[in-house]
Amino acid sequence: MTDAAPAFDFSAFSVVDNHLHPYEIRHEGSRYAPLNSFLGMPGEDEAALAHRDAMLYQRWATRQLAAFLGVEPTPEIVAEARAAQGDERAWAERLFRDQNIEALVVDTGYPQPPVDMAGFAAIAPAEIVTIYRIEPAIKALLDEGVEWDDLVPRFDGGIERAIRDEGYLGLKSIIAYRTGLEIDLAHESDEAGRAGLKQALASPDDMAASKALRDHLLLRALRHAVALRVPFQIHTGIGDRDIVLERCNPVLLNPVLKREPYRDAKVILIHTYPYVAEASWMAAALPNVWMDLSEGIPFAVTAVDRIFATALELAPINRILYGSDAFAGPEQIWLGAKVAKAALARVFTDLLHKDLVTEEDARDAARAILAGNARVLYGVLG
Ligand SMILES: [Zn+2]
Repeated sequence: MTDAAPAFDFSAFSVVDNHLHPYEIRHEGSRYAPLNSFLGMPGEDEAALAHRDAMLYQRWATRQLAAFLGVEPTPEIVAEARAAQGDERAWAERLFRDQNIEALVVDTGYPQPPVDMAGFAAIAPAEIVTIYRIEPAIKALLDEGVEWDDLVPRFDGGIERAIRDEGYLGLKSIIAYRTGLEIDLAHESDEAGRAGLKQALASPDDMAASKALRDHLLLRALRHAVALRVPFQIHTGIGDRDIVLERCNPVLLNPVLKREPYRDAKVILIHTYPYVAEASWMAAALPNVWMDLSEGIPFAVTAVDRIFATALELAPINRILYGSDAFAGPEQIWLGAKVAKAALARVFTDLLHKDLVTEEDARDAARAILAGNARVLYGVLG
């Protein structure tokens, strides 16, 4: 990376945040939750605070918000100053205006129980697009112990209603948090699904027993995405401590995504970090694959330049999506956009100095990654 001042300033570019979650604002404890990493020990005891405060993300985020608020950059002072801002919508407006954040693509499947979306919309002054997650529906059906002949119409009907009547613009799966991304195509048939349901219901406390059923339902949902012509987000890469990280490399999805009819589904590999290079290949080599960079941005804050540089190695610029994976407050949406724009400027300055891009290439790519690609994918006009 060059030491020279960046040749670009993307700070005024508009942002469509491709992946985040609805939130309610809570001011409790000595730290302000949106400045916490998504990792770290919960709670306020000495060990938990020391663990979180030792994270570079947390220190950086605290400094950024302190500067925006004009206060001392200590976690306690920032938490206090932030709580004193009053009107949540007006505060979020200030943050969103600062980074020109126009639209939010929201996965409503986390947290559970769901956040009231009217309440969220009231404090998130941007265009909001919602994505329907299939796992809460699967959980409800399993908890009820439904028969196969009931499960199919209810699962299918839930997806169809979500897209046709409830305004969702895409589907989502977190099978990476359940049984991993190594989807076995042998579970594609209805007979395999029926057998899978029997297995899952026989051992409700054993996640592995639900693999055949979950594989079947993911494939079924992907076929719906093709028929309904909506994008499908699949969690890949890092997550919190519940993730099955050893089975989260997006390359595990290759056998499915290469095959008819699944190759016709517009699949967005969500997060991808630390498998950004693998995802960059997939976005280049497979016909309908996009890669999202949320969570790595902003939480792996020291890696953000490298994440962009790696994504750009192979993936076409119209297949890379910026996102924040915000889950606790508007500051995360703001921090993600801020660090992403600065990193993109540094990365493209380096590529320009190496004569690998023109200034026009760089601006086109930054516009596309920060907003344009998501607008096309979800039909968000902004
Ligand atoms: Zn997420």
